[in-house]
Amino acid sequence: DIIERDVAIVGGGSAGTYCAISLQDQDRSVIVIEKEPRLGGHVETYVDPATGIAMDYGVALFDNTPAVNDYFARFDIPLVKISAFNISWFSYDFRTGKAVAPSYNPSREEVLAAFVTYFAQHARYPGLERGIFLPSPVSEDLYMPFWRFVEKYEIQAAVPTMFLLDAGVGDLLSNPVVEVFRALPRHMVEGVLTSNVLTPANHTVIELYRRAEAELSLTSSLFLSSEVLYAYREPTNTTEKNKITLLVRTHTPTETKLTLIHAKKLLIAIPPKPSLLDPWLRLTADELSVLIRYINTGMYVGIVNGTRFPPTAGILNLASNHTMYSFPYLPDMYNLIPARVPGLMLAIYGTMQTPDPYPMFEVAVRQHMLEDIRRIQRGNPDRYPGTEEPALVAFAGQAPYILQVSGEDIKDGFYERLYALQGQMNTFWIGAAWAADISGEIWKVARGVVLPKLVGEL
Ligand SMILES: Cc1cc2nc3c(=O)[nH]c(=O)nc-3n(C[C@H](O)[C@H](O)[C@H](O)COP(=O)(O)OP(=O)(O)OC[C@H]3O[C@@H](n4cnc5c(N)ncnc54)[C@H](O)[C@@H]3O)c2cc1C
Repeated sequence: DIIERDVAIVGGGSAGTYCAISLQDQDRSVIVIEKEPRLGGHVETYVDPATGIAMDYGVALFDNTPAVNDYFARFDIPLVKISAFNISWFSYDFRTGKAVAPSYNPSREEVLAAFVTYFAQHARYPGLERGIFLPSPVSEDLYMPFWRFVEKYEIQAAVPTMFLLDAGVGDLLSNPVVEVFRALPRHMVEGVLTSNVLTPANHTVIELYRRAEAELSLTSSLFLSSEVLYAYREPTNTTEKNKITLLVRTHTPTETKLTLIHAKKLLIAIPPKPSLLDPWLRLTADELSVLIRYINTGMYVGIVNGTRFPPTAGILNLASNHTMYSFPYLPDMYNLIPARVPGLMLAIYGTMQTPDPYPMFEVAVRQHMLEDIRRIQRGNPDRYPGTEEPALVAFAGQAPYILQVSGEDIKDGFYERLYALQGQMNTFWIGAAWAADISGEIWKVARGVVLPKLVGEL
């Protein structure tokens, strides 16, 4: 088969789906190539078979911004504000199962005052509201390790809460400040602290993607379970009508189909790690020299039953004497939090930063999660009596997660060079690597920066 479209989009997660719908709404033809049998990427929804209660255990919360409200309204999906979390925390060293008292306990007033300072510093860089546009030369405050920034602005009291909100970010304290700003963007954190974040009223984010899937299927604009085998891109200044040619393989239960796609532009909406791109895209030397700088973490979320922990208990992993905040050693679980379905808990697991896009075998993560819980049960029989054993009822591995670069790279103008790739070789880029790592910010960058430039060149 041969098909022609204005834009070919590789990746149907948060970014790719948003762009596909937005381009269709502007009467541009698209084709989305997604490797999984569904759209949504990091979105995961679990429906408890016993109660029928649905809950999101991937992307669940959205900042209360026009980009988010407009998009959900477009699909007629009502959003509600999340009420305050009512969790009593118990701390253990997950390596031993022993109770650990938090080594640093700032008061609520101290925490809020520290966040006010953090927000004020974040607000000094308006380019972070539109994408990752940093002043040139990049100021030292933006590339210094976060621990120095914390000391400089005396915001220690915010750090334990940041670590809690920022599971999956790896080594928070060594991260350059820009990467912390990207992982903890001001509007989202303000929203969480003031109960001003949104979620679909039916706690089923996947519904957004089902509706998008239906719309894209209606116009034959979607290839699920598909991958690009080969991409040919004309140089930017070519006069050819179709500047992009893709050979795509689609797996169905009964056959494997090949399709040739001609498009005017290519929009890449998958994590831009060279090892994931180079096999089919053949990166230019310019692209490779930028994208090779990325490191990432791995994040994994399980839903567990049989923990024996009380229904409103959150179980926090702390390691005595490891940093002034007793941060846990990674890879390990950050914490266990009560899920929406009574009796179930969410197990949040993460790794340190690494160049490897897939830092852990998922089977090892699952095993580690369950061993940790058993260790806490065994170590505290009076508190958690009974014979129930923990078991995973759902699990999702999200790697590579939080693509980021070093302070040296940021100082050397990495983000300017990254954004300069937009449009080169008739190729545009969108996704978490191009924004703060939350859906609302990605959609804002898509509609404010990437799509206007792309549409302008069609
Ligand atoms: C556990 C977890 C919870 C999160 N919670 C929130 C939250 O509550 N709120 C929030 O705003 N953000 C949350 N995030 C952040 C989340 O990363 C972003 O919101 C957003 O989903 C990132 O979108 P993306 O499109 O860049 O990437 P993804 O959603 O990862 O999409 C990439 C897509 O590309 C596909 N793909 C990959 N390789 C190929 C290939 N070669 N060919 C074709 N397709 C390919 C993938 O299957 C995927 O569908 C969470 C992240 C995780 C991991």
